[in-house]
Amino acid sequence: MKNIVIVGGGFAGLWAGLTAARELDLHGGAARITLVTKDEYLTVRPRLYEVFSEGLRAPLRPVLEPLGIQLQLGTVQDIDRQQRSVHLSVAGGESLALPYDRLIFTAGSEQRPLEIPGAAKFALNIDTFAAAQTFDRHLQDVLRAPDRPGRLTFIIVGGGFTGIELATEMRTRIRAHSDAATARKARIILIERGNVIGRHLGANPRPAIEAALREAQVEIYFGASVAQIERDAVRLTDDKHIDASTVVVTTGLRANPLVAQLGANTDDHGRVIVDEMLRVNGAHDIFAAGDAACAKADEQHAALMSCQHAIPMGKYAGYNAAHDVLGTPLRPYSQPNYVTCLDLGESGALFTVGWERKPEKSGAVGKQLKQTINTQWIYPPSGSRESILAAADLDGVWPPAV
Ligand SMILES: Cc1cc2nc3c(=O)[nH]c(=O)nc-3n(C[C@H](O)[C@H](O)[C@H](O)COP(=O)(O)OP(=O)(O)OC[C@H]3O[C@@H](n4cnc5c(N)ncnc54)[C@H](O)[C@@H]3O)c2cc1C
Repeated sequence: MKNIVIVGGGFAGLWAGLTAARELDLHGGAARITLVTKDEYLTVRPRLYEVFSEGLRAPLRPVLEPLGIQLQLGTVQDIDRQQRSVHLSVAGGESLALPYDRLIFTAGSEQRPLEIPGAAKFALNIDTFAAAQTFDRHLQDVLRAPDRPGRLTFIIVGGGFTGIELATEMRTRIRAHSDAATARKARIILIERGNVIGRHLGANPRPAIEAALREAQVEIYFGASVAQIERDAVRLTDDKHIDASTVVVTTGLRANPLVAQLGANTDDHGRVIVDEMLRVNGAHDIFAAGDAACAKADEQHAALMSCQHAIPMGKYAGYNAAHDVLGTPLRPYSQPNYVTCLDLGESGALFTVGWERKPEKSGAVGKQLKQTINTQWIYPPSGSRESILAAADLDGVWPPAV
């Protein structure tokens, strides 16, 4: 029996597995699908700025098991392209080698570390479920602690998508662990080394973002970054000193360094370059999708590190790996429609359309859409085997029309 091995149990890996299983099921192909990942959950990373809860991750077994997809927990250490095998360390320090006929690489991305003194010890982030949990515990500790200089000062480094969402949500998060008066009293500071907020989002959404940050009483420091972090203070690159108990870094993602194992060309974010079939250039038996892969979404644009791209890319990679095993035609990935939905805390959310990000819905209407995306659209399908298989149809409409 042939083996399809998927590395990574995020959005791309999950949907690759489901779609591959659907195609094999429909076309009578026998292949074993194994999904290798670090834990048995899909972490819903786009929600990690929200008030922390167990619901920010979803169990993988209930969606994989009905389709006969094997879940192998472990950390991939090495990919041997010559031998076609994936080497991983598993619980108890054992190692395991998994042979593959087709590999689907979906190991995702990680926060770029801030390489400054004190960051490794004191900087927090919301990149993974564990990091978000650590941040939440820190928040609880700080809010319970006796008052001291900087106790209620919360510094968010990076004025991009995640920094904006966290900054505008911060008072709600403080209130959740204390009270309205404490939340009002807190200083929320957003540090952006450029001279505009949301630089990568372009000019169109900026007025709404700036208004929301004003309403949330977020102080913005432009043109500086953090130079040093101590337990209760930070020093900025312009030498300013701020007493602060909390520093959260949100300065952008890079592809999982495991990409280097594929021995193929990468882009500026460290993503492996793939062709229109999502095949890693130069490797006929490896597909890649999601944040770890750089694919063309249309003639002018590369897919972004986003769920919106990772889910369809995962579906195409799964479809193509399965049809490659079956010896039937593959289908080229493309995704010309692009939208964004940015949470702006108590100001609602901003939904934009097109690569120029033209605002289309805002306030409470935008917020309702954001909540639907965050609590329904990006969660794994549930229910019977048939309904899970139906959700994995490459021609199904996702994201649903808005
Ligand atoms: C705070 C935050 C907010 C975001 N907000 C949005 C948003 O609003 N909208 C949006 O579209 N996107 C958003 N994103 C981006 C989005 O979360 C990613 O694009 C998406 O998670 C990519 O999916 P993926 O499957 O490619 O990778 P990931 O979700 O990163 O999954 C990778 C998987 O690989 C596994 N893995 C990694 N290394 C190994 C290894 N060595 N061995 C075994 N398994 C491994 C991981 O455990 C994980 O299961 C946000 C991201 C963050 C961090």
